[in-house]
Amino acid sequence: MELRLYDTLTKEKRPFQPLDPGNVRMYVCGPTVYDFAHIGNARPVIVFDVLFRLLRQVYGADHVTYVRNITDVDDKINARAARDFPGVPLNEAIRKVTEETEKQFHEDVDALGCLRPTVEPRATEHIAEMRSIIEKLVAGGFAYVAEDHVLFSPQAMDAANSVLPRYGALAKRSLDEMIAGARVDVAPYKRDVTDFVLWKPSKPGEPSWPSPAGITTPGRPGWHVECSAMAWKHLGEHFDIHGGGIDLVFPHHENEVAQSCCAFHRSRMANFWMHNGFLQVEGEKMSKSLGNFVTIRELLADWPGEVLRLNMLKTHYRSPIDWTLKGLEESEKTLDDWYRTAADAQSGQPADGVIEALLDDMNTPQMIAALHGLRHNALSGGEAARTELAASLRLLGFLSEGAAQWESRKRQGSGIDAAQIERLIGERTAARARKDFKESDRIRDELAAMGVVLKDGKGPDGKPVTTWEIER
Ligand code: AMP
Ligand code: ZN
Repeated sequence: MELRLYDTLTKEKRPFQPLDPGNVRMYVCGPTVYDFAHIGNARPVIVFDVLFRLLRQVYGADHVTYVRNITDVDDKINARAARDFPGVPLNEAIRKVTEETEKQFHEDVDALGCLRPTVEPRATEHIAEMRSIIEKLVAGGFAYVAEDHVLFSPQAMDAANSVLPRYGALAKRSLDEMIAGARVDVAPYKRDVTDFVLWKPSKPGEPSWPSPAGITTPGRPGWHVECSAMAWKHLGEHFDIHGGGIDLVFPHHENEVAQSCCAFHRSRMANFWMHNGFLQVEGEKMSKSLGNFVTIRELLADWPGEVLRLNMLKTHYRSPIDWTLKGLEESEKTLDDWYRTAADAQSGQPADGVIEALLDDMNTPQMIAALHGLRHNALSGGEAARTELAASLRLLGFLSEGAAQWESRKRQGSGIDAAQIERLIGERTAARARKDFKESDRIRDELAAMGVVLKDGKGPDGKPVTTWEIER
């Protein structure tokens, strides 16, 4: 069976044929590093990690290049640096914020079972490539300089009679509609309302670099050109897959296409544009004001990363996802079942049914159904099914440490309910006092199943005392 992927540009599921099977190339927009990532940000990271793993499975681990950038130049970063490190020179404060946030991000997504991308370029290390693209755009008549800014002109792009795509083709918007719908209070240096910034002057103290296109004052890049530059540097002018969340289609990805196609005189930037749907929490849009804004870090305090990962994959990547406590509890139960069944399995190959589901535009709900089927077969004695279950789980980023470690991490992660343990111990002590040893043994076994080990002794008054600890 061949790999088929849905392309946002053509709005269809098509067979995926890499430009070069020896080097399949994928770019995904990464985080802007100024704060802990929230669980919505985890969605593209997990979704494209699964695709990365699938591509490695199909084309070989050494034949896939996955680039996910780190945006480390941004107004939000500057604001956070000034707030958190008053008195420290801004550039130093920015470095502290971006380094610390990048470290947190890596810890979080590692815990979610995601492989590191092949390359993680930082925007500030690609200013030369950005300047070079901007120069090409100015020279080609697609961009112009005004008041120390460089602006891209979608109108100029559409007027060019060439191989270029139409501006708005990805987002399915027409330039005329955009002009009609644009706000009137447009910046004075823009010729047209739809023009967007490629380069702008830096305020004093802000990070700045020598400007392109003959501008003498130092400046900094606009967000969209950063991704065009990093994708170009690491994947070339034209590559296979470009991904990100659905909110990035317009303007970010539309503008990336415009910049890259105009700079390199090409009809396409990426052959497939892939976008994950949005995540909401308990039926509501996640926002700080609603108080339902939840970071990956907070969730990892209560749940093992695999539970968060599986919970994300229960929904197809293009559908919206409703993140609920109930869903997390179900995911934990499912993993429990799978891990217990897959424990001690021989090493082997992932199941065809799992791979086939993934090849069909990453149909993870179908893949999960296939895993349930394997467990079912394994329970009725199918050793091959047990092996395939374990190998499939490993391919998908689960079962990395084996089932035993899962048991202990799960208990740490899900929080010990000490009150419940004490209540059961009280019941057991009462049962022993009335010499109902059948009942006291039953309670001891129940606690043992929860990972709680009991120690019976005597208190200073000679009465029996039971203490407990968590089995490690
Ligand atoms: P940002 O840091 O906001 O640029 O987002 C980083 C990545 O997370 C982008 O690919 C976004 O599309 C994605 N993203 C942000 N919020 C959500 C959400 N609630 N659900 C799914 N993806 C999201
Ligand atoms: Zn981007």
